[in-house]
Amino acid sequence: TVGAVAVDLQGNIACATSTGGMLNKMEGRVGDTPCIGCGAYADNKLGAVSPTGHGEAIMKVTLSRLILFYMEQGKSVREAADMGLAYMWDRVQGRGGVVVVDPKGEWVARFNSLQMAWAAAQGGQLHYGMYGEEHFTRDI
Ligand code: ASP
Repeated sequence: TVGAVAVDLQGNIACATSTGGMLNKMEGRVGDTPCIGCGAYADNKLGAVSPTGHGEAIMKVTLSRLILFYMEQGKSVREAADMGLAYMWDRVQGRGGVVVVDPKGEWVARFNSLQMAWAAAQGGQLHYGMYGEEHFTRDI
């Protein structure tokens, strides 16, 4: 899965998610990716989320909209992402990860899978990582 979230200088917010699905998926399977609120969600008032991971689990908890709901309740992008992933684990033992941005441009990449390659471009810098809390930054 490749996912992206973005906020422009006018405060317009967007998300995009693309996937090949799961290995050995059942013929005709529709995963979380094309289901709005599950595999993607964007709202200019709240922010945007793009997830990857166990699609069935993501759909069961409507992960993208759930994280934006937590942000609507006043949680930061990091708190909301962690709460959403923790909820998905507690409720349906699902693993995955998310990239999240809010209208101020605060962003986070969080995951409870073993790894998730992620990158963020902001203010002339590229931030990127793949494992746990490991985080690299370089000028672009
Ligand atoms: N979420 C995708 C799916 O279940 C898989 C992935 O993220 O790699 O179809």
